[in-house]
Amino acid sequence: MKILLNSKELEKELSNNRNLGFVPTMGSIHKGHEYLIKNSKKKCKKTLVSIFINPTQFNNLKDYKKYPKNVKKDLNILKRLKVNYVFIPTVKDIYHHKREKIIKLKKKDLILCAKYRKGHFEGVLDVMDRLTNLIKPKKIYMGKKDYQQVFLVKRYIENKYKTRIIKCNTIRNKANIALSSRNLLLKKNHLKNVSKIVNELFLFKKNINKQKKINLIFKNKIKDLEKRYKIDIEYLELRKLDNLKKSFNTKNANLFIAYYINKVRLIDNL
Ligand code: AMP
Repeated sequence: MKILLNSKELEKELSNNRNLGFVPTMGSIHKGHEYLIKNSKKKCKKTLVSIFINPTQFNNLKDYKKYPKNVKKDLNILKRLKVNYVFIPTVKDIYHHKREKIIKLKKKDLILCAKYRKGHFEGVLDVMDRLTNLIKPKKIYMGKKDYQQVFLVKRYIENKYKTRIIKCNTIRNKANIALSSRNLLLKKNHLKNVSKIVNELFLFKKNINKQKKINLIFKNKIKDLEKRYKIDIEYLELRKLDNLKKSFNTKNANLFIAYYINKVRLIDNL
């Protein structure tokens, strides 16, 4: 496994790689990331994993500063998985040149996380543009756990490059919690509640099609969850998977949720 610490090293090393799979991460590697890596290894000749906590996608400096960092542990896992390359660039290296045209989401895209985290996806698209341009992968493996992210990145990157974005399923633990680096910031009792919330939402989704006053049902569910689990819900919405438009039945649609539990922001869709 080769560790590349800057873009010059990367460009030198990758000049001949035509069938490269790329898995972008912000580190604290877990089984969800491992799943993306395994998918890439199955389909691509070589696999590159990046570890880069991208500052421009954080709309809150505190959140950026407290984001978990575990590079040593990550490298051990990536070695075990026989990843070919790990790219760990500095912020300066990635952002050394200004963009010609700034990225701005259209009004119709300002839904879900884009509505609540101003500038977040602009930061994600910016870094994905820079990384794709540098790495020139054949395929990029991303998780449906961050569905709106992979939806927007796929549209942007596939429009601009030959690279294909491959959407991978969400990996959950035994308690049904979607694996996330942010879970490391939560205590056992909070995680217990996260599990209860997910299981309740699976049940809630199952019964949606039988309901009539769907707006009221959602309003009440939000209130109820907030009260019982002491959480703040930013959104709980049913949306179509192919275009992210609001939906009133569960056919090809998922429940999307974002909430704060003990000041940690979690998202999920199911
Ligand atoms: P992150 O390190 O959180 O930026 O995530 C890096 C990539 O891993 C993104 O494409 C995520 O959607 C994906 N990912 C994160 N959690 C999971 C999960 N539980 N299952 C599958 N993919 C995931």
